[in-house]
Amino acid sequence: MKSIKEVKDLKGKRVLVRVDFNVPVGDDGVVDGKEDWRIKAVLPTIKYLLEKEAKIILMAHLGRPDGEVVEKMKLGPVQDRLSDLLDLSITRTPDCVGDIVSEVVDEMQAGEIVLLENLRFHQGEKRNDEEFAEKLASIADIYINDAFSVSHRAHASVSAITKFLPSYAGLLLEKEIKILSDAVSNPKSPATIIMGGAKAKTKLPVIKFLMNKFDHILVGGVVANVILKAKGIDVGESMIGDIDLEDVKKIDLDNKKLCIPFDVIVCNSKIKKVEVSSIGEMGDEKILDIGPDTEEVYSKIIADSKMIIWNGPMGKFENEKFASGTRKVAEAVVKSKGYSIIGGGDIITALDQFGYLDEVDYVCTGGGAMLEFLAGGKMPGIEALK
Ligand code: ADP
Ligand code: MG
Repeated sequence: MKSIKEVKDLKGKRVLVRVDFNVPVGDDGVVDGKEDWRIKAVLPTIKYLLEKEAKIILMAHLGRPDGEVVEKMKLGPVQDRLSDLLDLSITRTPDCVGDIVSEVVDEMQAGEIVLLENLRFHQGEKRNDEEFAEKLASIADIYINDAFSVSHRAHASVSAITKFLPSYAGLLLEKEIKILSDAVSNPKSPATIIMGGAKAKTKLPVIKFLMNKFDHILVGGVVANVILKAKGIDVGESMIGDIDLEDVKKIDLDNKKLCIPFDVIVCNSKIKKVEVSSIGEMGDEKILDIGPDTEEVYSKIIADSKMIIWNGPMGKFENEKFASGTRKVAEAVVKSKGYSIIGGGDIITALDQFGYLDEVDYVCTGGGAMLEFLAGGKMPGIEALK
């Protein structure tokens, strides 16, 4: 994989950069300081290109417009925020391909920034369509991928496009890959993985893949529910999601490294009665958080860890009644001297809410991409740069 730093002369070159600006815009139509961390993450690459006096053409997606133009998913709020952060004016094109884009780019001066409109307004993006990729590429001299978080998808702007332009990794992509590969190939012992959240299907492969390399695996959320159930323990009406328990059983569930909650916060269907319960006495109730004794055990392990990777909350933290597990674990993570890496949309929201986000050592921009990487999978966007 070649780095942007290897390009000798960037002055005046048209550099097309895939970034991740998929930020929560909200009803106010404004990206504020609590919603802009993805934009901030890519600033080093933009500033590097500014310094080198390149012509910077940024491309990104927002939301899931499914190949149609959706007014609310236009990149205006992103343009405004980026412009504020850089204190520079930024031109946005009404589309990401076509004559209008070529005209704007033809007029560009060195050191200027153009933001192309939402890539996903075109079907070709998600389909990894070569014709679409060629059109994107036609306006540039060099392509840079700085969007780790979408690199696990074979989409035109990260995969097919590399067939048409000399392609390089941006500073952020490089950094994320370096941090994650170092963490996986050489975890500082004792190393701990914390896995929670709802999408168990994407998280279990990480547990399976890293079980031998890591010392502790702490689970919560639906990931824990699924493991409990696979072990034959009653989880009542707890959420399981679309998971095949036979797949779960392929993991060494009796391995001592795997820590499962032994007390939990449960409630009945109407959330009227919330109480602490031991595992295995469920009836028609469901598990919505880890219990206080489990919190304590997890916190001790985290305190002694030299490295911690965390994805997914311990409970349904959006409701304060079920936020304690995630909060206590977060507290332990930021207090621990161990190097902490977190990733995942919801866990980042949770830590931000608790005021702990700035104290984490590394916040990965990709949730799904981070999991894919940690599970040893090949990522189309990264393979395409090789
Ligand atoms: P992340 O975005 O951090 O990777 P996920 O998207 O996998 O995490 O899951 C986050 C969601 O999981 C949250 O909305 C949270 O409410 C939910 N969740 C966590 N624990 C439970 C539980 N025990 N029962 C139901 N939902 C849960
Ligand atoms: Mg999520």
